[in-house]
Amino acid sequence: MTTLPKKILMNRPFNFGAGPATLPQEVLSEAASEMLDWHGSGMSVMEMSHRGSEFGIIYEQVQTDLRELLAVPAHFKILFMQGGGQAQNAIVPLNLARAGSADFVVTGSWSERSQQEARKYCSVNVAASSEPGSFISLPEPASWKLNPTASYVHICSNETIHGVEFHELPDLKALGSDAPLVIDFSSHVASRPVDWSRVGLAFGGAQKNLGPAGLTLVIVREDLLDRALPICPSAFNYQLLADNQSMFNTPPSYAIYIAGLVFQWLKRQGGIAAMEARNQAKAALLYDTIDHSRLYYNQVAHNCRSRMNVPFFLRDENLNAAFLAGARDHHLLQLKGHKLVGGMRASIYNAMPLEGVQALVAYLLDFEKMHG
Ligand SMILES: *Cc1c(COP(=O)(O)O)cnc(C)c1O
Repeated sequence: MTTLPKKILMNRPFNFGAGPATLPQEVLSEAASEMLDWHGSGMSVMEMSHRGSEFGIIYEQVQTDLRELLAVPAHFKILFMQGGGQAQNAIVPLNLARAGSADFVVTGSWSERSQQEARKYCSVNVAASSEPGSFISLPEPASWKLNPTASYVHICSNETIHGVEFHELPDLKALGSDAPLVIDFSSHVASRPVDWSRVGLAFGGAQKNLGPAGLTLVIVREDLLDRALPICPSAFNYQLLADNQSMFNTPPSYAIYIAGLVFQWLKRQGGIAAMEARNQAKAALLYDTIDHSRLYYNQVAHNCRSRMNVPFFLRDENLNAAFLAGARDHHLLQLKGHKLVGGMRASIYNAMPLEGVQALVAYLLDFEKMHG
């Protein structure tokens, strides 16, 4: 048995859960120290008016930091909403589907759910699907059957369950389409830069890579704000939210504050380009170990393997329970795969340090030696 370095044993276990997911320890400590009294205000952030001057300071900093980190151009609005990624599956068509139809590229269970939900509000064209190949590759953009009158084209840029990621966003203009591209980037937002010239709207739940559950990030091009369907609920109307600094109603203020601490932490880490390099190194180490193993495997095509969510399987499924129990003994938590695909999954978001992936790799090798 490899013994883990002392420093790691003294710290918290490494948590590979897909979401709600691990947060930087520095952020949790900072939040704990400010829990009862934020900056001498005599209040917890949870107890402040969202319209008061204290929360105003927090909110402005969060907006500024996020815009800087993700290099969001001035003609995009940053909205903070509630309801999670899945609410956006309805909120996006309610706001954008004026022309009555939308295109979906189905590359895993999240984009599949999105297109199912959108059918309540508009007609749906599945422009391409990798379901026949069991969602282990991405359909070539040149093969997509786009509808020229679609209100938007939806993709999930990182499929959290199947572990498939668009390493490059499609260029719809080059495919002859003027429709805005909508991306569900819930599970890889802030893990790499975004090419905003290709995006109309991006949404993501915060609980994978930004902060706690309860906050949903929407970044939307200004010219898309004015197309909501008359039945769109006011609290979900992008224009109303944009006009009211995301405070049409009470925003998830504590979750916004924690995300703000994460943004400050990201800046201290060197920003998104630095995170991307670390994420690439972490993913390469883990995939390399899996690919060189006789016990573990991952079937996703190399050109679209997710750098955030790494599903893998044991060739002998009878060892699954022993693998997970041993992992817990090694302070490696939440490695069980999603019930739809089974096996294991290691989510290695921004807040997972390289040391965590190294500890996982050491355990993988150890377990294989014992059982291979
Ligand atoms: C987790 C996740 C969602 C769902 O988020 P909820 O906040 O639970 O609605 C949607 N899309 C992707 C890609 C996800 O990973």
